[in-house]
Amino acid sequence: MAIQLFKAKYEVEECLAQIRECLEAGWTGLGFKTVEFEKAWRAYTGLPFAHYLNSSTIGLYMAVDILKEQYGWKDGDEIITTPITFVSSNHAILKAGMKAVFADIDDTMCLAPESVKQHITEKTRAVMYVGIGGNMGHYYEIAKICAENNLKLILDAAHMAGTRYKGEIPGREAEVVVYSFQAVKNLPTADSGMICFKNGDFDEIVRKKSWLGINKDTYARTTNTGNYKWRYDVEYVGDKGHGNSVMAAIGLVQLKYLDRDNAYRRQLAHWYQDRLSGYGNKIKLVRMEEDCESSCHLFQIMVENRDELMMALNAAEIYPGVHYANNINYGMYDYAKGTCPYADYVSEHTISLPMNLYLSYDDVQNICNEIIKFVIK
Ligand SMILES: *Cc1c(COP(=O)(O)O)cnc(C)c1O
Repeated sequence: MAIQLFKAKYEVEECLAQIRECLEAGWTGLGFKTVEFEKAWRAYTGLPFAHYLNSSTIGLYMAVDILKEQYGWKDGDEIITTPITFVSSNHAILKAGMKAVFADIDDTMCLAPESVKQHITEKTRAVMYVGIGGNMGHYYEIAKICAENNLKLILDAAHMAGTRYKGEIPGREAEVVVYSFQAVKNLPTADSGMICFKNGDFDEIVRKKSWLGINKDTYARTTNTGNYKWRYDVEYVGDKGHGNSVMAAIGLVQLKYLDRDNAYRRQLAHWYQDRLSGYGNKIKLVRMEEDCESSCHLFQIMVENRDELMMALNAAEIYPGVHYANNINYGMYDYAKGTCPYADYVSEHTISLPMNLYLSYDDVQNICNEIIKFVIK
């Protein structure tokens, strides 16, 4: 049977029961389950604020937009970011009218601290950090660089649901953390995300901005008693970005199993590591940091002839992916061409092996057999 890169595994009966509650209550919108999910997420992460959104893409944009507005950043001010990410991270910067300045990555596939330092200018306001595959990379070093240089840290934690460092969920160092609960992420819903500001005032702003700028949500309007509950003001030109109760219903169930599921992902990663290490430069493994309990959203290796390996695996009905092509090679970002040589290398050589909860030990062995056969031929 074909082996896919990703395939979300849901607790179907429990999800259906939660969704049924929404349908029977006649409330599938903002409020109700979204409130419950925000509370559960705060409890799980230990982060002080959490606002549920319909995607992490809108969350990343709102993160940059709100920080820009609140800290008085100017159009064209700079945010240092990574070229190896999903375009959402970098689009957020451009959409908010700022400049994405690309620093290079290191062998963790996350931003390299030295390169970040080299790119700091008078106009730098923040760093956009992406924990690729659930790895932390040198996150704490970057947080330190930010603190020393008065830069705000934005953490794109789309891959990091459940990642822990020395037993704790990272994120307190950041000004804002944005999670994705998109269809193939570790906590899958279908589409949704969570934005967690450090500052409670910003949390209040994002609640308005994600609801067109309206200062009273519809759920508050149904539950408030008294007159004028229908009356509201519009304080911003906001977006329709908030999450809904059906997605939150799924999220609430999947969250209960996130640690169990991530533990199995780490098991899969160990099976891959055991089998694929010892091939020197033929199979390079992405370095996993000590003390980091990764969510293992991805398991990446680097090989020569990546595209050929991809075809060989496809011929065996194994369908890996690539995370990511260097964003600098996209038309939007080609002003930075040639500035991140290691990212160029990674972009051409990395391959993400199947990482989903349906995989067995034997599946991993079969995948590894095909890879080893390819690299030693
Ligand atoms: C998936 C992803 C996003 C976007 O998430 P959505 O919830 O689909 O908007 C942003 N950044 C990274 C690194 C991602 O992998």
